[in-house]
Formats: sequence, structure tokens, C-alpha cells
Amino acid sequence: MDRDRILLTPGPLTTTLRTKLAMLRDWGSWDADFNAVTARVRASLLKIVHGEQSHVVVPLQGSGTFSVEAAVATVVPRDGHVLVLDNGAYCKRAARLTSLMGRRCTVLPFDESAPVSAAAVERQLAQDASITHVVLVHCETGAGVLNPLPEVALACERRGKGLIVDAMSSFGALPIDAREVRFDALVAASGKCLEGVPGMGFVFLRKAILEGCAGNSQSLAMDLHDQHVYMEKTGQWRFTPPTHVVVALAEAIAQFEAEGGQPARLARYTDNYRTLVDGMGRLGFMPFLDPAVQAPIIVTFHAPGDPRYAFRSFYEAAKAHGFILYPGKLTQIETFRVGCIGAIGRNEMQQAVHAVELALQELGIASGEPAI
Ligand SMILES: *Cc1c(COP(=O)(O)O)cnc(C)c1O
Repeated sequence: MDRDRILLTPGPLTTTLRTKLAMLRDWGSWDADFNAVTARVRASLLKIVHGEQSHVVVPLQGSGTFSVEAAVATVVPRDGHVLVLDNGAYCKRAARLTSLMGRRCTVLPFDESAPVSAAAVERQLAQDASITHVVLVHCETGAGVLNPLPEVALACERRGKGLIVDAMSSFGALPIDAREVRFDALVAASGKCLEGVPGMGFVFLRKAILEGCAGNSQSLAMDLHDQHVYMEKTGQWRFTPPTHVVVALAEAIAQFEAEGGQPARLARYTDNYRTLVDGMGRLGFMPFLDPAVQAPIIVTFHAPGDPRYAFRSFYEAAKAHGFILYPGKLTQIETFRVGCIGAIGRNEMQQAVHAVELALQELGIASGEPAI
């Protein structure tokens, strides 16, 4: 097989040849040329959220979770109290890292098949004055639910609470406007909807809270305030930057802008999503979520009811036809997930459905219809 397999996963994802080629050079981390790339990436990122006036953006080495952890450690004072809105696996991860950072953490649970409720958040904030910050996952990649960011942001603003948003799987594809939605920190990463390669995250921090963040972090490497101060002073990253990841992201952002920015990306992903769900539906598969709460980012499907189905063999069969699927992340029922993001379009989604059809045939499964 001389073609890379198509990744139908929510990061790492399929990147363009142009993005991959950008990584074929070595860069000195002190060098002015590399610092210019970092500066350009930061300026472009701020533009995407319309945060030029209100926010700064601080990049950080590591996968996306490193940046979520860094955002909590940097933004929440050590005696702060965080309310984590939980409707899935990535919310639970945010709660766990908050506790491990030594911050008091309360979890407000919701059903994983529905968005969190801003009204419930408002009630909880009214009840417990000790809460200082709320953590919201914008698109819960676990099931694929889109959570109501503007409404939750409004509830936090009304109650005078800080808001930390994990927008990892939505940033660049779904609209987020810092001029209209108030957040203290918003976290995303290189290897998601911007279609770069994995290896760095970035956190938008509201300028008004920046000074107050000094000294909050109990970690040296994860201190975004320190990283920001150093970067502003020197133009450099504090510690060794993921140079190849940064230049690949710069190249990916150039293509993002040329494609038409966030609206164009959302349109392509929405088309990918429809192509996928229509095609899978013809094979008998049923999505787990109500389409009304589904983000066009990743789709959770019920596993086929046929006793011959096992995710492992299904995965291997689809892989042999060139497509990488993703396991489910729900606790109660058997599912698998298919991502709609990455440098792919309608053709790839049609081919993916065809690969799934062949996989079913090879496993002797008549239909994707679930047992329920
Ligand atoms: C991808 C993702 C993350 C980060 O996961 P990593 O494995 O650390 O890259 C965090 N939150 C959400 C919602 C995600 O989709």
C-alpha cells in the first residue's frame, strides 16, 4: 500500500502533503526565522477567535491534555474551587486533572447523550458561592455532543465566575468569537481541526486575568503565565519547542485561511458528516446521538447486533481497506466512532463507507443494524 491510511480519528488526523512536507527542515529554536514562525502562528490563532483585543495566546509543548492541565494550574488559584460540567470521557479527564493539580473540584453530572444544561450550571453557581471557576468541554469528543458554550459563558459572566473551555475538537471548525463569548481560558491543539500534526497545544488567556495568574501554577513546565512572559520578552519558547510541529501548524493554518477559514472548514466537515451518516445508514448502522445535539466532528455508532461482530476484527478489516476507525468511549453500550475531521472530503467519506461495507461482508455480517 503506497498511500497512507486515512485516519477517521479525532487527532492525529489525516494531513495534507503540503503540511507533511513543511516538516522536512530543521530549525534552531533561538533563530529569528523560527521565532518569526511562532509569532505568525500566534497572530493567526488570535485572529481565528477574534481575540486580538481581549486575549493572548500561549502555546505549550505536548498533547492537548497538557494544555488543559496547564490552563487549570495557571488560571485557578490554589485555593480555588472548580465546577466541572461532565457529559463524557473528556470532562471526566478534566475533573481528574483538576483534582490532581490540588484544586478543589466538584463535578456536575449530565447524561452523555445530551448537552450540559446552562440553567443547571446557573442553579449550581447560585447554590455554592465557593465555586470560582467552571470547566466546560465544548465538543465532548467521547460521544460527539456539542455543548452550549455561549449560554454557559453567559451564566459564568452573570455570576462572576471564571470559565475554562476545552475547545480541543471544535476550535477552527465551530464558530467561537471572543468578542461575544467571555472566557478566561480556551484550550485547543495543533493536531485537531486546524489539521496540523500533534505535539503542541495553545491556550487563549483573557488579558484581564493574566496578571493575577502569576504564581498560581505549582508546575514549572506547565506554567502558562511564565511561558507567556518569557515569550513576550524574548520571542522564544521557554523550553525546547516542537519545531517541526510549529512549522507544520503554520503551513496548515495557511491552508486553513486559503480554504476560507472557520466557515469553510465547518462546511466541509458538515458535508463529511452527512456523507458518512447517509452512507452508514444505508448499511443499517445507527448513530448513538440525536442529530440535533451532534457536532459534525465525530460520530458514535451503535455496534452491529450481529454476534459475529467484534470491534477488533471490524477495525482490522476496515484498516486493510485503508481506513482507520476509532473505538467507542461510552461506558454502558458497545459503540465505535468515526471522525469527520482532517484533510479529507466527500470522496474519502464515500470510500470509508465502502470500506465498512466490505469489512461487514468479509466478517459475514449482513447488516450494521444494532441489537436494540
Ligand atoms: C483530543 C482532545 C483532548 C486532548 O487529548 P490528547 O490525547 O491529550 O491530545 C482533550 N479534550 C478533547 C475534547 C479532545 O477532543
